[in-house]
Amino acid sequence: MSEKTIRACHLYGNLLNTYGDNGNMLMMEYVAKQKGVSFTSEIISIYEEFDPEKYDFVFFGGGQDYEQTIVSKDIQTKKEGITSYIEDNGVLLAICGGYQMLGHYYIGANGTKIQGISALDHYTLSQDNNRFIGEVKIHNDEFNETYVGFENHNGVTYLGEGEKPLGTVIEGDGNNGKDKGEGAIYKNTFCSYLHGPVLARNEHLAHRLVDLILDKKYNNA
Ligand code: GLN
Repeated sequence: MSEKTIRACHLYGNLLNTYGDNGNMLMMEYVAKQKGVSFTSEIISIYEEFDPEKYDFVFFGGGQDYEQTIVSKDIQTKKEGITSYIEDNGVLLAICGGYQMLGHYYIGANGTKIQGISALDHYTLSQDNNRFIGEVKIHNDEFNETYVGFENHNGVTYLGEGEKPLGTVIEGDGNNGKDKGEGAIYKNTFCSYLHGPVLARNEHLAHRLVDLILDKKYNNA
């Protein structure tokens, strides 16, 4: 039998990588290798084509508003590919700024509208002179799992059609500080405000993502 492989894409990995979000890629590789699966990855950034057929996993990290403004323009050229990857149940993890960009828009801290790609139905407003900063703990009732991480965001996100939160806030602010939701799940797309990097701090979530990828790629044929 030939060796199993996960082919990963790190979207805008040279621009959006707040708090070492790329540690999530290292963690995915570590867990894949523990399961005897090889792992390859490449950064796809501005002016490069995103081909949804080429990947089994996509990671999209967080960043400052300035970098998000640059990404916002370029990502419109990848909108179709990313949307079809998501709709086809591709496994994707998006953190903070990446999470915001998958939705309709993010009103940045200076009031400028930063356009997303509307692949997911959430939108993000800004807070007046405030950021949510600090440790977060959430619980996902469906998986009966707890996740921890560190949030630092101006944006306040409201989920839309078909999206469930990644978890209920136990500590911290989460999506908007009001409805106790943190992050989003839509199909096999997982979004969160948790840095950390979140997978290094929550090995069980990394296992969940790797298992989803392997199920989709090798068991559903
Ligand atoms: N710039 C966005 C905000 O402040 C995202 C921040 C991040 O990715 N950490 O909400």
